[in-house]
Amino acid sequence: MQAAGEPRFAIIGAGMSGLLSAIKLREAGLDFTVFEKAERVGGTWRENTYPGIACDVPSHLYSYSFELNPEWRYMASPGDEIQAYFEGVTQRYGIRDSIRFGEAVVRCEWQPESGSAGGCWEIESSSGFVGRFEWVIAATGILHHPKFPDIEGLDRFSGAMFHSARWDHDVPLDGRRIGVIGTGSSGVQITGALAPRSASYSLFQRTAQWVVPVEQIAYTEEQRTSFRSDPKALEEMHAELSRTFHDGFANTVLDGESAAIDEIEKVCREYLETRISDPELRERLRPDYRAACKRLVISHNFYDSIQHPNAELVTEDIQCVEPGGVRTRDGRLHELDVLVLATGFHVDRFVRPMTIRGDGGALLDEVWRQRPSAYLSVTVPGFPNFFMLNGPNSPVGNFSLIMTAEMQFAYLMKLFEHVQSGNLDLVMPTRAAAERFEEERTEAAKKTVWATGCKSWYLDDRGIPFAWPFPFTRFRAEMEAPRLEDYESPRRAA
Ligand code: NAP
Repeated sequence: MQAAGEPRFAIIGAGMSGLLSAIKLREAGLDFTVFEKAERVGGTWRENTYPGIACDVPSHLYSYSFELNPEWRYMASPGDEIQAYFEGVTQRYGIRDSIRFGEAVVRCEWQPESGSAGGCWEIESSSGFVGRFEWVIAATGILHHPKFPDIEGLDRFSGAMFHSARWDHDVPLDGRRIGVIGTGSSGVQITGALAPRSASYSLFQRTAQWVVPVEQIAYTEEQRTSFRSDPKALEEMHAELSRTFHDGFANTVLDGESAAIDEIEKVCREYLETRISDPELRERLRPDYRAACKRLVISHNFYDSIQHPNAELVTEDIQCVEPGGVRTRDGRLHELDVLVLATGFHVDRFVRPMTIRGDGGALLDEVWRQRPSAYLSVTVPGFPNFFMLNGPNSPVGNFSLIMTAEMQFAYLMKLFEHVQSGNLDLVMPTRAAAERFEEERTEAAKKTVWATGCKSWYLDDRGIPFAWPFPFTRFRAEMEAPRLEDYESPRRAA
C-alpha cells in the first residue's frame, strides 16, 4: 500500500532501460508503474526477430553490471538468447506485476501545484487509464520506429514484403527468391542467415560497408561452469571488456583523423582482400569513406554468404518496385517472392508520438520542432522531473547502451535524492545550461569520425552528428556528480 505523499514513478517502456529502472526503483523501495505498449518485455530484442539476429557487442558486456550471466552460449549472443535474458531478469526481480502490458502512454501533462513534489505528471494510456506520478522515466528506445524507403511502386509488390524489424514469420523462406534492401548491421546479418537457404538471394546495396571480421565463439559447457563457479572472474571479464570498449574504441571515434581508425581500416581491408575472391565484387564491396563514419558492421559470415552461388550483390540503383520484383536503373527486373526492407529507423522520434506537455503547457513536440536535444541527454528545460534514458545525444554508437543507461539512472537517483533532502524543489535544467551543453556538444561532434563525409543515421537534419562526442571519462564524471547549479530551483535560490 502506497503511503500518502510517497513519490510515484512512471516508467515508459519495458525494454532494457525500463527494466533496469524498475529493478533499481524496487531495490530502493520506491513506488513505480511500468507502461509497456506490447505484451512482452524486451524492447528491441522483442521487436527484431529477423533470421541471423545477434548482438555484435560481446554478451558479457551486453548484460546489466549487477546481473552478469554465466549462461551466455555465445560471445555475441543471438537475439532469442538476449530476449530470454530480459524475460528471466523480469521474473527474478519480481517486476512483472508492476508492468501494465498492452498500454501505450499517449499523454503526459505536468500539473503544477499538485502531487507531493510541487507538481506531478498526469499520464494517460491507450487503455483510458489516467494516473498521477511525480516522476517520469522515458525508456522508449532509439532504433524503434522502422523507416520505410521512398521507392516508387513499393506498395505494388505482389509477394511478401516487410521491414527487418517487423519480420513476418508466417512467410516461408526456404527455396524462395529473396531480396533485401539495405546493408546496415541488420541487412548484413540477414544475408549471413538467408543467402544459403534461398533459391536466389539479391542484396541491394546503396553504400558499401566497412566490415570488421569477428569470429563467432561458442562458449563450452566447461567455460560456463567456470563462469558459474567464479563470479569474481565474470566481474573481471565485464570490467575488462568495458575498459577495452570505453577507453579504446569509444575514444577512437572522437577524432576523425585518429590513427586507430587507420588500424581498423587496415584490418577490414585485409579481410576484404583475402575473403572476396572475385576482384570485381571486391571493388563493389569496397567503402570509399572513413571507417566508423557509419556504424561499423561486425560480421563473421557476410563475405562468405554474399559469395554463395545463390547470392548476388546488386549495386545498380533501384528504379522502382513492380509486382514481380525490383527493377534497377539498368532496366533489369530482379524477380522476387519475398522483399525485406532492412532500411533502418527514424532515430529522431524518441518519446514521440506521445503528447508531452511540460511546465506552462509547452509541448515537447514544439520544443523539438527543429531537432530533439536534451541537457546531458537526460533532461529538458521546461519539463520537470522528466528523464530520458538513452535519449537525444546519448552515446548510442560508441558506449555500451546498458552501461550508459545504468549511469544515467544513477544520475537520476542522485537528483531525486537532492529533491528528497530539500536541495532542489524539482528537477528541471536551466535553459542556459542546456544551451551551453548543446553548443559545446555540437562543436565537438563536428570533429568526430561521424562527420567525415558519409551519410548515416548518426547525422541530424543539419548533417551534424547527434551523439555524445566526448570521452567516456567525461560521461562518467558528469553522471557521477550532478551540477546542481545547472538546475532550476526556487528553493535553492532562496
Ligand atoms: P541502417 O544501419 O540505418 O541501414 C539501413 C540500410 O538501408 C543502409 O544500407 C541504407 O543505405 C539502406 N537504405 C535505406 N534506404 C534505402 C533506399 N531508399 N534505397 C536503398 N537502400 C536504402 O539500419 P540497420 O541495419 O537496421 O541498423 C541500424 C542500427 O541498428 C545499427 O547501426 C546498429 O546500431 C543497430 N543494430 C545492431 C545490431 C547488433 O548486432 N548489435 C544488429 C542490427 C542493428 P545507405 O547506407 O546508402 O544509407
